[in-house]
Amino acid sequence: MEYVSTRGSASALDFEGVTLAGLASDGGLYLPNEWPRFSEAEIAAMAGLPYAELAAKVMAPFVGDSLTQDELLDLCRQAYGRFAHDAVTPLVQLDERQWLLELFHGPTLAFKDVALQLLGLLFETFLSRRKSNLTIVGATSGDTGSAAIDAVAGREGVDIFMLHPSGRVSDVQRRQMTTVRAPNVHNIAITGSFDDAQAMVKRMFADESMTSRFNIGAVNSINWARLMAQVVYYFASAVQLGAPHRQVAFSVPTGNFGDVFAGYVAHKMGLPIAKLVVATNVNDILHRALSQGDYSAGEVTPTAAPSMDIQVSSNFERLLFDCGGRDGKALAEQMRGFEASKAMRLTNAQREGASQLFTSARADQNEMAQALRWAFDHAGQVIDPHTAIGLHAALEADVDPSIPMVTLATAHPAKFSDAVERAIGMRPSLPSRIGDLFAREEALVELPGEYEAVRDFVSERATPAA
Ligand SMILES: *Cc1c(COP(=O)(O)O)cnc(C)c1O
Repeated sequence: MEYVSTRGSASALDFEGVTLAGLASDGGLYLPNEWPRFSEAEIAAMAGLPYAELAAKVMAPFVGDSLTQDELLDLCRQAYGRFAHDAVTPLVQLDERQWLLELFHGPTLAFKDVALQLLGLLFETFLSRRKSNLTIVGATSGDTGSAAIDAVAGREGVDIFMLHPSGRVSDVQRRQMTTVRAPNVHNIAITGSFDDAQAMVKRMFADESMTSRFNIGAVNSINWARLMAQVVYYFASAVQLGAPHRQVAFSVPTGNFGDVFAGYVAHKMGLPIAKLVVATNVNDILHRALSQGDYSAGEVTPTAAPSMDIQVSSNFERLLFDCGGRDGKALAEQMRGFEASKAMRLTNAQREGASQLFTSARADQNEMAQALRWAFDHAGQVIDPHTAIGLHAALEADVDPSIPMVTLATAHPAKFSDAVERAIGMRPSLPSRIGDLFAREEALVELPGEYEAVRDFVSERATPAA
Protein backbone atom coordinates (compact mmCIF):
# COMPACT_ATOMS: atom_id res chain seq x y z
CA MET A 1 0.00 0.00 0.00
CA GLU A 2 1.33 3.42 -0.99
CA TYR A 3 0.49 6.66 0.77
CA VAL A 4 0.29 10.07 -0.89
CA SER A 5 0.19 13.57 0.57
CA THR A 6 -2.95 15.72 0.34
CA ARG A 7 -0.75 18.55 -0.97
CA GLY A 8 0.63 16.54 -3.83
CA SER A 9 4.38 17.15 -3.69
CA ALA A 10 5.86 15.02 -0.83
CA SER A 11 7.15 11.64 -1.95
CA ALA A 12 4.92 8.58 -1.53
CA LEU A 13 5.70 6.35 1.47
CA ASP A 14 4.80 2.85 2.65
CA PHE A 15 2.96 2.15 5.92
CA GLU A 16 6.12 2.06 8.03
CA GLY A 17 7.17 5.37 6.50
CA VAL A 18 3.88 7.19 7.18
CA THR A 19 3.69 5.84 10.72
CA LEU A 20 7.06 7.37 11.58
CA ALA A 21 6.62 10.54 9.51
CA GLY A 22 3.38 12.04 10.81
CA LEU A 23 2.96 15.21 8.74
CA ALA A 24 4.15 15.08 5.11
CA SER A 25 7.13 17.29 4.17
CA ASP A 26 4.90 19.50 1.97
CA GLY A 27 2.69 20.28 4.97
CA GLY A 28 -0.02 17.84 3.84
CA LEU A 29 -1.44 14.70 5.43
CA TYR A 30 -0.92 11.18 4.15
CA LEU A 31 -3.72 9.06 2.74
CA PRO A 32 -3.72 5.66 1.05
CA ASN A 33 -3.38 5.91 -2.70
CA GLU A 34 -6.63 3.94 -3.06
CA TRP A 35 -9.27 2.58 -0.70
CA PRO A 36 -9.25 -1.16 -0.11
CA ARG A 37 -12.75 -2.68 -0.26
CA PHE A 38 -14.27 -5.65 1.51
CA SER A 39 -17.01 -7.70 -0.18
CA GLU A 40 -20.32 -8.35 1.58
CA ALA A 41 -19.23 -11.90 2.26
CA GLU A 42 -16.00 -10.69 3.86
CA ILE A 43 -17.88 -8.27 6.09
CA ALA A 44 -20.41 -10.96 7.05
CA ALA A 45 -17.51 -13.21 8.06
CA MET A 46 -16.34 -10.59 10.59
CA ALA A 47 -19.29 -11.37 12.89
CA GLY A 48 -18.20 -12.86 16.20
CA LEU A 49 -14.45 -12.36 15.77
CA PRO A 50 -12.52 -11.35 18.90
CA TYR A 51 -11.62 -7.64 18.67
CA ALA A 52 -7.87 -8.17 18.10
CA GLU A 53 -8.54 -10.58 15.22
CA LEU A 54 -11.04 -8.23 13.63
CA ALA A 55 -8.55 -5.38 14.02
CA ALA A 56 -5.81 -7.33 12.24
CA LYS A 57 -8.23 -8.17 9.39
CA VAL A 58 -9.47 -4.62 8.89
CA MET A 59 -5.99 -3.07 9.08
CA ALA A 60 -4.09 -5.66 6.99
CA PRO A 61 -4.68 -3.95 3.61
CA PHE A 62 -3.32 -0.66 5.00
CA VAL A 63 -0.27 -2.23 6.66
CA GLY A 64 0.75 -4.00 3.44
CA ASP A 65 4.23 -5.50 3.60
CA SER A 66 5.34 -3.45 6.61
CA LEU A 67 4.34 -6.28 8.99
CA THR A 68 3.51 -9.95 8.50
CA GLN A 69 -0.05 -11.08 9.35
CA ASP A 70 1.32 -12.78 12.48
CA GLU A 71 3.24 -9.69 13.61
CA LEU A 72 0.17 -7.51 13.12
CA LEU A 73 -2.09 -9.90 15.02
CA ASP A 74 0.45 -10.14 17.83
CA LEU A 75 0.61 -6.33 18.19
CA CYS A 76 -3.20 -6.11 18.18
CA ARG A 77 -3.42 -8.74 20.92
CA GLN A 78 -0.90 -6.82 23.05
CA ALA A 79 -2.58 -3.45 22.48
CA TYR A 80 -6.16 -4.60 23.13
CA GLY A 81 -5.19 -6.95 25.95
CA ARG A 82 -4.75 -3.85 28.11
CA PHE A 83 -8.43 -2.89 27.89
CA ALA A 84 -10.67 -3.40 30.91
CA HIS A 85 -13.55 -4.91 28.87
CA ASP A 86 -13.34 -8.20 26.95
CA ALA A 87 -15.27 -6.75 24.02
CA VAL A 88 -12.74 -3.82 23.99
CA THR A 89 -15.41 -1.46 22.52
CA PRO A 90 -18.79 -2.73 23.83
CA LEU A 91 -22.16 -1.52 22.51
CA VAL A 92 -24.80 -0.40 25.01
CA GLN A 93 -28.45 0.06 24.08
CA LEU A 94 -30.25 3.26 25.14
CA ASP A 95 -33.64 2.71 23.51
CA GLU A 96 -35.07 0.88 20.46
CA ARG A 97 -32.97 2.95 18.14
CA GLN A 98 -30.17 4.70 20.03
CA TRP A 99 -26.94 2.95 20.97
CA LEU A 100 -23.68 3.94 22.65
CA LEU A 101 -20.35 2.56 21.51
CA GLU A 102 -18.13 2.68 24.60
CA LEU A 103 -14.61 3.54 23.53
CA PHE A 104 -13.21 4.42 26.96
CA HIS A 105 -12.16 1.09 28.46
CA GLY A 106 -8.45 1.67 27.80
CA PRO A 107 -5.82 2.74 30.33
CA THR A 108 -6.49 6.52 30.17
CA LEU A 109 -10.31 6.45 29.82
CA ALA A 110 -10.82 8.00 26.37
CA PHE A 111 -11.12 6.60 22.85
CA LYS A 112 -7.60 7.82 22.05
CA ASP A 113 -6.26 4.68 23.75
CA VAL A 114 -7.75 2.47 21.03
CA ALA A 115 -5.35 3.88 18.47
CA LEU A 116 -2.45 4.99 20.64
CA GLN A 117 -1.88 1.69 22.44
CA LEU A 118 -1.28 0.20 19.01
CA LEU A 119 0.73 3.17 17.76
CA GLY A 120 3.19 2.89 20.70
CA LEU A 121 3.86 -0.72 19.73
CA LEU A 122 4.22 0.15 16.04
CA PHE A 123 6.79 2.84 16.90
CA GLU A 124 8.81 0.43 19.00
CA THR A 125 8.71 -2.30 16.32
CA PHE A 126 9.74 -0.03 13.44
CA LEU A 127 12.39 1.92 15.40
CA SER A 128 14.17 -1.17 16.65
CA ARG A 129 14.27 -2.46 13.07
CA ARG A 130 15.79 0.80 11.86
CA LYS A 131 17.99 1.31 14.95
CA SER A 132 16.86 4.91 15.13
CA ASN A 133 15.23 7.36 17.54
CA LEU A 134 11.97 9.24 17.31
CA THR A 135 11.11 12.59 18.88
CA ILE A 136 7.36 12.81 19.29
CA VAL A 137 6.04 16.34 19.47
CA GLY A 138 2.34 16.64 20.07
CA ALA A 139 -0.37 19.07 21.05
CA THR A 140 -3.27 17.94 23.15
CA SER A 141 -6.61 19.32 24.19
CA GLY A 142 -6.37 16.74 26.98
CA ASP A 143 -6.98 13.16 25.94
CA THR A 144 -4.39 12.55 23.24
CA GLY A 145 -1.64 13.60 25.62
CA SER A 146 -2.41 11.13 28.36
CA ALA A 147 -3.10 8.29 25.94
CA ALA A 148 0.13 8.93 24.02
CA ILE A 149 2.22 9.24 27.16
CA ASP A 150 0.79 6.00 28.54
CA ALA A 151 1.53 4.28 25.22
CA VAL A 152 5.20 5.32 24.98
CA ALA A 153 6.42 5.94 28.57
CA GLY A 154 9.65 4.03 29.11
CA ARG A 155 9.78 2.65 25.54
CA GLU A 156 13.16 2.43 23.79
CA GLY A 157 14.03 4.92 21.07
CA VAL A 158 11.19 7.38 21.74
CA ASP A 159 11.09 10.76 23.51
CA ILE A 160 7.76 12.50 23.88
CA PHE A 161 7.16 16.26 24.25
CA MET A 162 3.50 16.98 24.89
CA LEU A 163 2.11 20.52 24.73
CA HIS A 164 -1.20 21.36 26.40
CA PRO A 165 -2.96 24.72 26.77
CA SER A 166 -2.28 25.81 30.34
CA GLY A 167 -5.38 25.74 32.54
CA ARG A 168 -7.65 24.47 29.75
CA VAL A 169 -7.58 20.73 30.41
CA SER A 170 -9.41 19.01 33.26
CA ASP A 171 -7.56 18.07 36.48
CA VAL A 172 -7.87 14.38 35.67
CA GLN A 173 -6.57 14.94 32.15
CA ARG A 174 -3.60 16.99 33.37
CA ARG A 175 -2.69 14.57 36.13
CA GLN A 176 -2.88 11.60 33.76
CA MET A 177 -0.08 13.29 31.81
CA THR A 178 2.00 14.95 34.49
CA THR A 179 2.15 12.12 37.02
CA VAL A 180 3.76 9.66 34.61
CA ARG A 181 7.40 9.72 35.71
CA ALA A 182 9.63 8.36 32.94
CA PRO A 183 12.81 9.99 31.62
CA ASN A 184 11.45 10.04 28.04
CA VAL A 185 8.28 11.99 28.97
CA HIS A 186 8.18 15.83 28.90
CA ASN A 187 5.01 17.80 29.67
CA ILE A 188 4.81 21.42 28.51
CA ALA A 189 1.97 23.75 29.51
CA ILE A 190 1.82 26.69 27.09
CA THR A 191 -0.02 29.97 27.42
CA GLY A 192 -2.76 29.95 24.76
CA SER A 193 -5.34 27.63 23.21
CA PHE A 194 -5.09 24.14 21.75
CA ASP A 195 -5.00 25.67 18.27
CA ASP A 196 -1.93 27.72 19.29
CA ALA A 197 -0.22 24.57 20.55
CA GLN A 198 -1.13 22.65 17.39
CA ALA A 199 0.20 25.46 15.20
CA MET A 200 3.56 25.26 17.01
CA VAL A 201 3.75 21.54 16.46
CA LYS A 202 3.01 21.95 12.76
CA ARG A 203 5.70 24.61 12.56
CA MET A 204 8.26 22.30 14.10
CA PHE A 205 7.54 19.64 11.46
CA ALA A 206 8.46 22.22 8.81
CA ASP A 207 11.51 23.63 10.67
CA GLU A 208 14.74 22.51 8.93
CA SER A 209 16.83 23.28 12.00
CA MET A 210 14.81 20.60 13.84
CA THR A 211 14.05 18.07 11.11
CA SER A 212 17.71 17.91 10.05
CA ARG A 213 18.74 16.70 13.54
CA PHE A 214 15.72 14.84 14.84
CA ASN A 215 13.21 12.37 13.49
CA ILE A 216 10.09 14.26 14.48
CA GLY A 217 7.06 12.03 14.80
CA ALA A 218 3.37 12.65 15.43
CA VAL A 219 0.84 11.11 17.76
CA ASN A 220 -1.93 13.52 16.81
CA SER A 221 -4.54 12.26 14.42
CA ILE A 222 -2.50 13.71 11.57
CA ASN A 223 -0.75 10.32 11.95
CA TRP A 224 -2.46 7.93 9.55
CA ALA A 225 -1.94 4.86 11.77
CA ARG A 226 -4.24 6.39 14.35
CA LEU A 227 -7.12 6.83 11.96
CA MET A 228 -6.56 3.34 10.63
CA ALA A 229 -6.91 1.82 14.10
CA GLN A 230 -10.15 3.76 14.64
CA VAL A 231 -11.74 2.29 11.50
CA VAL A 232 -11.92 -1.04 13.31
CA TYR A 233 -14.64 -0.16 15.83
CA TYR A 234 -16.97 1.07 13.11
CA PHE A 235 -16.78 -2.43 11.63
CA ALA A 236 -17.05 -4.11 15.05
CA SER A 237 -20.23 -2.25 16.00
CA ALA A 238 -21.93 -2.22 12.60
CA VAL A 239 -21.46 -5.96 12.19
CA GLN A 240 -23.01 -6.52 15.62
CA LEU A 241 -26.02 -4.47 14.53
CA GLY A 242 -26.53 -6.43 11.33
CA ALA A 243 -24.08 -5.15 8.70
CA PRO A 244 -23.57 -5.92 5.85
CA HIS A 245 -27.31 -6.75 5.62
CA ARG A 246 -28.44 -3.63 7.46
CA GLN A 247 -27.36 0.00 7.36
CA VAL A 248 -26.09 1.81 10.46
CA ALA A 249 -25.64 5.53 11.27
CA PHE A 250 -23.07 7.03 13.63
CA SER A 251 -22.95 10.26 15.60
CA VAL A 252 -19.42 11.34 16.42
CA PRO A 253 -18.34 14.00 18.95
CA THR A 254 -15.84 15.82 16.79
CA GLY A 255 -12.84 18.08 17.26
CA ASN A 256 -9.94 17.42 14.93
CA PHE A 257 -12.14 15.38 12.53
CA GLY A 258 -10.05 12.24 13.08
CA ASP A 259 -12.59 9.90 14.61
CA VAL A 260 -15.35 10.73 12.16
CA PHE A 261 -12.93 10.53 9.23
CA ALA A 262 -12.23 6.94 10.30
CA GLY A 263 -15.97 6.36 9.78
CA TYR A 264 -15.66 7.79 6.28
CA VAL A 265 -12.83 5.34 5.61
CA ALA A 266 -14.97 2.44 6.88
CA HIS A 267 -17.70 3.53 4.44
CA LYS A 268 -15.17 3.66 1.58
CA MET A 269 -14.15 0.11 2.50
CA GLY A 270 -17.68 -1.15 1.94
CA LEU A 271 -19.33 -0.82 5.36
CA PRO A 272 -23.01 0.20 4.84
CA ILE A 273 -23.00 3.48 6.79
CA ALA A 274 -26.14 5.51 6.06
CA LYS A 275 -24.98 8.74 7.69
CA LEU A 276 -22.13 10.16 9.75
CA VAL A 277 -23.31 12.91 12.06
CA VAL A 278 -20.56 15.38 12.93
CA ALA A 279 -21.38 16.67 16.40
CA THR A 280 -19.68 19.86 17.58
CA ASN A 281 -19.96 22.12 20.59
CA VAL A 282 -20.12 25.93 20.19
CA ASN A 283 -16.73 25.77 18.49
CA ASP A 284 -18.65 24.90 15.37
CA ILE A 285 -16.41 25.52 12.35
CA LEU A 286 -17.17 22.02 11.05
CA HIS A 287 -20.91 22.47 11.42
CA ARG A 288 -20.69 25.73 9.45
CA ALA A 289 -18.43 24.15 6.83
CA LEU A 290 -20.70 21.16 6.28
CA SER A 291 -23.98 23.05 6.40
CA GLN A 292 -22.94 26.27 4.60
CA GLY A 293 -19.57 25.64 2.97
CA ASP A 294 -18.02 28.29 5.25
CA TYR A 295 -14.75 27.04 6.77
CA SER A 296 -13.64 30.05 8.79
CA ALA A 297 -11.99 29.85 12.17
CA GLY A 298 -13.23 32.02 15.02
CA GLU A 299 -11.85 32.36 18.54
CA VAL A 300 -11.85 29.17 20.59
CA THR A 301 -14.45 29.23 23.38
CA PRO A 302 -13.54 27.00 26.34
CA THR A 303 -16.38 24.54 27.15
CA ALA A 304 -17.16 21.55 29.37
CA ALA A 305 -16.07 19.33 26.46
CA PRO A 306 -12.46 20.57 26.12
CA SER A 307 -11.34 17.87 23.69
CA MET A 308 -13.65 19.46 21.14
CA ASP A 309 -12.56 23.07 21.76
CA ILE A 310 -10.95 23.32 18.36
CA GLN A 311 -11.47 25.68 15.46
CA VAL A 312 -8.98 24.27 12.98
CA SER A 313 -9.66 20.58 12.32
CA SER A 314 -6.53 19.11 10.76
CA ASN A 315 -8.15 16.00 9.31
CA PHE A 316 -10.80 17.95 7.43
CA GLU A 317 -8.09 18.43 4.82
CA ARG A 318 -8.18 14.69 4.18
CA LEU A 319 -11.88 14.84 3.38
CA LEU A 320 -11.46 17.90 1.16
CA PHE A 321 -8.74 16.06 -0.75
CA ASP A 322 -10.74 12.87 -1.22
CA CYS A 323 -14.06 14.59 -2.05
CA GLY A 324 -12.45 17.25 -4.21
CA GLY A 325 -10.99 14.86 -6.79
CA ARG A 326 -7.63 14.24 -5.06
CA ASP A 327 -6.01 17.27 -6.66
CA GLY A 328 -3.02 17.94 -4.38
CA LYS A 329 -1.86 21.10 -6.17
CA ALA A 330 -5.28 22.75 -5.99
CA LEU A 331 -5.69 21.78 -2.34
CA ALA A 332 -2.24 23.09 -1.42
CA GLU A 333 -3.32 26.43 -2.92
CA GLN A 334 -6.64 26.37 -1.05
CA MET A 335 -4.92 25.51 2.27
CA ARG A 336 -2.31 28.25 1.80
CA GLY A 337 -5.21 30.68 1.43
CA PHE A 338 -6.79 29.32 4.59
CA GLU A 339 -3.56 29.56 6.55
CA ALA A 340 -3.16 33.20 5.53
CA SER A 341 -6.74 34.39 6.15
CA LYS A 342 -8.12 31.70 8.54
CA ALA A 343 -11.11 31.37 6.22
CA MET A 344 -12.07 29.59 3.01
CA ARG A 345 -15.09 28.45 0.99
CA LEU A 346 -15.50 24.80 0.11
CA THR A 347 -15.67 24.10 -3.63
CA ASN A 348 -18.92 22.69 -5.03
CA ALA A 349 -17.29 19.30 -5.52
CA GLN A 350 -16.11 19.27 -1.92
CA ARG A 351 -19.56 20.27 -0.61
CA GLU A 352 -21.42 17.77 -2.72
CA GLY A 353 -18.97 14.98 -1.98
CA ALA A 354 -19.22 15.60 1.76
CA SER A 355 -22.99 16.03 1.92
CA GLN A 356 -23.69 12.53 0.60
CA LEU A 357 -22.46 10.92 3.79
CA PHE A 358 -22.08 13.67 6.38
CA THR A 359 -24.53 15.77 8.27
CA SER A 360 -23.78 17.92 11.29
CA ALA A 361 -25.23 19.41 14.45
CA ARG A 362 -24.02 21.70 17.20
CA ALA A 363 -24.82 21.62 20.90
CA ASP A 364 -24.43 24.46 23.37
CA GLN A 365 -23.89 24.01 27.10
CA ASN A 366 -27.60 23.63 27.79
CA GLU A 367 -28.25 21.07 25.06
CA MET A 368 -25.22 19.09 26.23
CA ALA A 369 -26.57 18.97 29.79
CA GLN A 370 -30.03 17.96 28.53
CA ALA A 371 -28.62 15.03 26.57
CA LEU A 372 -26.59 13.97 29.59
CA ARG A 373 -29.81 13.91 31.64
CA TRP A 374 -31.70 12.11 28.85
CA ALA A 375 -29.21 9.22 28.91
CA PHE A 376 -29.46 9.02 32.69
CA ASP A 377 -33.28 9.22 32.85
CA HIS A 378 -34.04 6.95 29.87
CA ALA A 379 -31.37 4.33 30.17
CA GLY A 380 -29.62 4.81 33.52
CA GLN A 381 -26.40 5.60 31.66
CA VAL A 382 -23.94 8.17 33.00
CA ILE A 383 -22.18 9.69 30.00
CA ASP A 384 -19.48 12.34 29.65
CA PRO A 385 -19.98 15.83 28.13
CA HIS A 386 -18.37 14.91 24.78
CA THR A 387 -20.58 11.87 24.43
CA ALA A 388 -23.58 14.02 25.40
CA ILE A 389 -22.87 16.36 22.49
CA GLY A 390 -22.81 13.32 20.22
CA LEU A 391 -26.06 12.05 21.70
CA HIS A 392 -27.74 15.44 21.29
CA ALA A 393 -26.83 15.32 17.59
CA ALA A 394 -27.99 11.70 17.31
CA LEU A 395 -31.40 12.55 18.79
CA GLU A 396 -31.80 15.58 16.48
CA ALA A 397 -30.41 14.08 13.27
CA ASP A 398 -32.65 13.72 10.26
CA VAL A 399 -31.91 10.06 9.53
CA ASP A 400 -34.39 7.29 8.55
CA PRO A 401 -35.72 6.08 11.95
CA SER A 402 -35.49 2.41 10.95
CA ILE A 403 -31.69 2.71 10.91
CA PRO A 404 -29.90 2.13 14.23
CA MET A 405 -27.99 5.20 15.44
CA VAL A 406 -24.73 4.68 17.30
CA THR A 407 -23.21 7.52 19.33
CA LEU A 408 -19.51 7.14 19.96
CA ALA A 409 -18.92 7.39 23.73
CA THR A 410 -15.51 8.98 23.52
CA ALA A 411 -14.61 9.41 27.20
CA HIS A 412 -15.38 7.90 30.59
CA PRO A 413 -17.66 10.24 32.59
CA ALA A 414 -15.24 10.31 35.53
CA LYS A 415 -12.74 12.18 33.36
CA PHE A 416 -15.13 15.15 33.42
CA SER A 417 -16.86 14.61 36.74
CA ASP A 418 -17.53 18.29 37.52
CA ALA A 419 -19.59 18.80 34.36
CA VAL A 420 -21.39 15.49 34.85
CA GLU A 421 -22.26 16.38 38.44
CA ARG A 422 -23.62 19.77 37.36
CA ALA A 423 -25.96 18.04 34.89
CA ILE A 424 -27.27 15.05 36.85
CA GLY A 425 -26.32 15.81 40.45
CA MET A 426 -24.17 12.73 40.76
CA ARG A 427 -20.39 12.44 40.71
CA PRO A 428 -19.06 9.47 38.71
CA SER A 429 -16.12 7.77 40.40
CA LEU A 430 -12.82 6.96 38.74
CA PRO A 431 -12.38 3.28 37.89
CA SER A 432 -9.84 1.49 40.07
CA ARG A 433 -7.42 0.99 37.18
CA ILE A 434 -6.55 4.69 37.41
CA GLY A 435 -5.11 4.17 40.89
CA ASP A 436 -4.02 7.00 43.18
CA LEU A 437 -3.99 9.72 40.51
CA PHE A 438 -4.59 12.55 42.96
CA ALA A 439 -1.88 11.46 45.39
CA ARG A 440 0.94 11.36 42.85
CA GLU A 441 3.42 14.17 42.25
CA GLU A 442 3.18 16.18 39.02
CA ALA A 443 6.03 17.20 36.70
CA LEU A 444 5.59 19.85 34.00
CA VAL A 445 7.15 23.04 32.69
CA GLU A 446 5.26 26.23 31.86
CA LEU A 447 6.39 27.96 28.66
CA PRO A 448 5.10 31.13 26.99
CA GLY A 449 3.11 30.65 23.78
CA GLU A 450 6.15 31.37 21.60
CA TYR A 451 7.49 28.91 19.09
CA GLU A 452 11.17 29.67 19.85
CA ALA A 453 10.78 28.80 23.54
CA VAL A 454 9.25 25.43 22.71
CA ARG A 455 11.78 24.70 19.97
CA ASP A 456 14.73 25.40 22.30
CA PHE A 457 13.26 23.30 25.08
CA VAL A 458 12.83 20.33 22.72
CA SER A 459 16.19 20.63 20.97
CA GLU A 460 18.08 20.72 24.28
CA ARG A 461 16.50 17.48 25.47
CA ALA A 462 15.65 15.31 22.45
CA THR A 463 17.84 12.45 21.17
CA PRO A 464 19.21 12.96 17.62
CA ALA A 465 17.81 10.67 14.90
CA ALA A 466 20.52 7.99 14.90
C1 LIG B 1 -10.23 13.71 20.99
C2 LIG B 1 -11.61 13.67 21.50
C3 LIG B 1 -12.70 14.02 20.69
C4 LIG B 1 -12.52 14.54 19.29
O1 LIG B 1 -12.02 13.57 18.41
P1 LIG B 1 -11.39 14.00 17.00
O2 LIG B 1 -10.82 12.77 16.43
O3 LIG B 1 -10.32 15.02 17.33
O4 LIG B 1 -12.48 14.60 16.19
C5 LIG B 1 -13.97 13.86 21.21
N1 LIG B 1 -14.16 13.42 22.47
C6 LIG B 1 -13.14 13.10 23.28
C7 LIG B 1 -13.42 12.65 24.66
C8 LIG B 1 -11.83 13.20 22.82
O5 LIG B 1 -10.82 12.86 23.62
